[in-house]
Amino acid sequence: MINFLDLKKINAQYRTEIVDAMTRVLDSGWYIMGTELAKFEKAFSQYCGVKHCIGVANGLDALVLVLRAWKEMGLVKNGDEVIVPSNTYIASILAITENGLKPVLVEPDENTFNISTENIIKNISDKTKVILPVHLYGLACPMAEINEIAKKHNLLVLEDCAQAHGAEINGKKVGSWGNAAGFSFYPGKNLGALGDGGAITTDDDELATTLMALRNYGSHIKYENKYIGVNSRLDELQAAILNIKLNYLEQENCKRRAIADQYLAGISNISVILPTIPEDPLTHTWHLFVIKATDRTKLQEFLSIKNDIQTLIHYPIPPHKQSAYVQYKDLNLPISEKLHNQVLSLPMDPTLSSEKILKIIEKINSFN
Ligand SMILES: *Cc1c(COP(=O)(O)O)cnc(C)c1O
Repeated sequence: MINFLDLKKINAQYRTEIVDAMTRVLDSGWYIMGTELAKFEKAFSQYCGVKHCIGVANGLDALVLVLRAWKEMGLVKNGDEVIVPSNTYIASILAITENGLKPVLVEPDENTFNISTENIIKNISDKTKVILPVHLYGLACPMAEINEIAKKHNLLVLEDCAQAHGAEINGKKVGSWGNAAGFSFYPGKNLGALGDGGAITTDDDELATTLMALRNYGSHIKYENKYIGVNSRLDELQAAILNIKLNYLEQENCKRRAIADQYLAGISNISVILPTIPEDPLTHTWHLFVIKATDRTKLQEFLSIKNDIQTLIHYPIPPHKQSAYVQYKDLNLPISEKLHNQVLSLPMDPTLSSEKILKIIEKINSFN
């Protein structure tokens, strides 16, 4: 069996260091908002090239809290519109509706899977306040263009970096392009904890201060509450594990890139459309290697049943067709609907051997 992702194997590489870190936290007697979190926030802000990193409980909260903070700061109000890609993971959209804001679902570029800048422009109204680009599957969005649009229309930019830790544009990391960015450290992400975790990055001092209160009951000073906040903190155990795994992120992203290169060079079945190779200056961290196949169901079954190769679909149902969002079911989003019917994610795991990748390539090439 070739697994889609073997988290046990990935984390076993760092077992000794992780166990040491967990023991250190256990023995410290301090489990929330301590030195491990402070160390991680400093390291991750430096890695991303920003002034502030604020650890939170998960990636969804990271996005929710930035929008919430902008409301507290008077920059966004109930009913304002947020432009978001129509083919993203549901969390990007949940963060918007959770805040009483209106998601404006914008179609992606069919080749890159990322939000189309032309479609962003077409969807700007006088209610638009935020653009929420998602670096989907690990490919950086054209942030220079997006920032230019935002500047022209006086909009805020919130990057969803949950799938793209370490991706760059012109050597500048995602998470440092927008007014703020949300990251997830869900175990399966390129930088994954051993549980839930998330972070916000920003250069904005006022936003950072607001967020540090919001994540901690709305309190800057113990027992004094400025906001109706939440409890959304990155705990010491997860922060300690992330402090170790951050050291290996570049190396793991390199391995992902090598696997992607092997797939791109090897897959030659004409019924399969390969992901577009990122165009300079955008880079791809290959969180997922997503192909398109018109005969997706047959191909997926051929790989799993006949050949023991596990593939996944990201995502089978577009957000506007989810029962949670019936009000959007009649939106005309043909590109998203087509993509949701065709996308298939091949195994992508930094510990996969090149022999296994070769086998996957061979099997795909033999499918007809
Ligand atoms: C994983 C993910 C999130 C949410 O992160 P969690 O930590 O699971 O809450 C948000 N946006 C995108 C694009 C994601 O892939």
